[in-house]
Amino acid sequence: MIKIIKLTLEHVPFAIAAHLVETEVGPILLETGPHSTLPVLQEGLRKHGYKLEDIKHVFLTHIHLDHAGAAWAFAEKGATVYMHPFGEKHMADPSKLIASAKMIYKDKMDMLWGKLKPIPATQIVTVSHGQKFNIGGVEIVCWNTPGHAVHHCSFQIGKSLIAGDVAGVKIGDKGMVVAPCPPPDINIEHWMNSIDLLETLDLDTLYIAHFGKITSVINQLTALRAILWDWANWMLPYYQDKTPPAEVIPKFAAYVNQQLVNSGVSKADMIIYEASNPSNMAVFGILRYWKKKLEK
Ligand SMILES: [Zn+2]
Repeated sequence: MIKIIKLTLEHVPFAIAAHLVETEVGPILLETGPHSTLPVLQEGLRKHGYKLEDIKHVFLTHIHLDHAGAAWAFAEKGATVYMHPFGEKHMADPSKLIASAKMIYKDKMDMLWGKLKPIPATQIVTVSHGQKFNIGGVEIVCWNTPGHAVHHCSFQIGKSLIAGDVAGVKIGDKGMVVAPCPPPDINIEHWMNSIDLLETLDLDTLYIAHFGKITSVINQLTALRAILWDWANWMLPYYQDKTPPAEVIPKFAAYVNQQLVNSGVSKADMIIYEASNPSNMAVFGILRYWKKKLEK
């Protein structure tokens, strides 16, 4: 019932999912990927018999550009876009999002993420914890799942969960579970609470954005808890010693690389891991978590 559309970037090994659900009133899309991959998404929709304008409802787990960057293109054709209330103002006026992304990605911005245009506020529906939507006979339950981002939601359909980034990253069948940790919102305690919630939801399948369908739900979540604390605790001494991030990044990249090697991840998949969850982002994200927690 939930169909995965695999999105890739031409020049960057990258794997992100958009999800298509067919209903009695037409298809729903959960996650859009970045605008730079819109042609890939359109090709994926075409394979299922749909055009961009057939999508009237788009659900976003959060507004990071790799998950939500193409949502405006659907809104332009009349779609309603569902998201956490904290995401609304940035999608209605993306100038701040664009400015902060440009600071990070500089001249690679367009190649990586493409364009970002405003979504009219009248086409945005904000969702609340436990809220249910029935669209063409399909019930979608929204859950607030912060930790990766303060405005992160997950969407439950039956025993399946469109989990965005809150259930971790895992590439390939034999892949290791890692934690996507970009700044500015990483909060390990909130993330643990979200994992607690996921464990109570009676799920048999997680759909993670990077990448795919996970049926060993408890194993995935247990491994995610472990790696989150492992990485946070690895980073703590560097925070305490005020080591500049530029010095921490290569050390952390080597540490993660060794973990991936030890877990048997292939070289090709390792490159996708780094593209989906860059070491430099995780260093900034986790150092910022410790700063916010310990400098209160
Ligand atoms: Zn994200």
